Amino acid sequence: MKILICDTMNSKVLKELHSLGECIDISSSESKDQDLVTEINDAEIVVVRSSTKLTKEIIEKGDCLKIIARCGVGVDNIDIEYAKSQNIKVTNSPSANLNSVVELTVALIISAARKLSLSDSHLKDGKWDRKEFIGMELSGKQLGIVGFGKAGRLVSKIMKSLGMTIAFYDPYIEDWDGPEKRLELDELLITSDVISIHVIKTKETVNLISQEKLDLLKNSAILVNTSRGGVVDEDYLVELLKLKKIFGAGLDVYSEEPPQNVDNFEDINLITTPHIGASTNEAQLKAGIDTVENIKKILAGDDSVAL
Ligand code: NAD
Repeated sequence: MKILICDTMNSKVLKELHSLGECIDISSSESKDQDLVTEINDAEIVVVRSSTKLTKEIIEKGDCLKIIARCGVGVDNIDIEYAKSQNIKVTNSPSANLNSVVELTVALIISAARKLSLSDSHLKDGKWDRKEFIGMELSGKQLGIVGFGKAGRLVSKIMKSLGMTIAFYDPYIEDWDGPEKRLELDELLITSDVISIHVIKTKETVNLISQEKLDLLKNSAILVNTSRGGVVDEDYLVELLKLKKIFGAGLDVYSEEPPQNVDNFEDINLITTPHIGASTNEAQLKAGIDTVENIKKILAGDDSVAL
């Protein structure tokens, strides 16, 4: 059985995959796009993270393809509908990255509230002008969560311990009677001091936080997105930061990765990271182990882990 590994995997996970079949690893190939087209042809299993795009055109070249295993949660890089139509099982590891992406989200919120990126560069430039770095205390403020799923709820739990009150917007949650305040999107954006985005990427969530929605934010607001690029109008967000129409922002994900307009990111209270939400040893190992387990289950005829 040929297993095509398209993105970097933890060494323990690679060992497990090797025990399942003949592995071809193109993750560090300089001609990866080309290798993918060639190698997928007789592969039965393809393993990817978020950076490999499995479009219909690529998947249809996989004449023997049985399983697409996404090591991580988001499957917006895979044409699932087409895969399913070809009876190819698609599986992911929905919880493995949770702690890591949530911890990064909390770090971005606190960094924006205390202008950590700007103040770090300031000190390293040999300066000591403390009045430039008056921050914002989070205790007593409202955190507005857009997309109240696994990540949104865990961010809420942690931020409550810092004294924040929680509101959320999520049209797919029915009959809510928890302590968190449920709001419509506009009201959440108008009233929250910190907004954190945790939706999955769908046709509906692309540009959900559009220019018009960003105009609803308070001048003192912070917005953080660790979900998926393109959910927030990032160019307009940067414009608002430059005009000091919002207090700060944090981004781990971008509509184009890597983003091409990074010069615009300088000298504003914007903390950026290169899509590293899941990039911890623990998350990568757990996602990899979950992925191997899912592959084994599907091979044994248990489709409960298939999407
Ligand atoms: P989840 O499926 O548990 O939660 C997503 C929530 O979004 C659900 O509650 C759903 O009802 C809600 N939602 C869907 N459409 C919506 C809409 N139109 N408006 C508002 N809410 C909507 O997913 P999760 O595990 O919490 O992950 C959240 C996001 O974080 C995903 O996009 C995932 O890809 C991303 N993520 C990013 C990284 C990273 O490296 N930055 C790592 C892990 C996860």
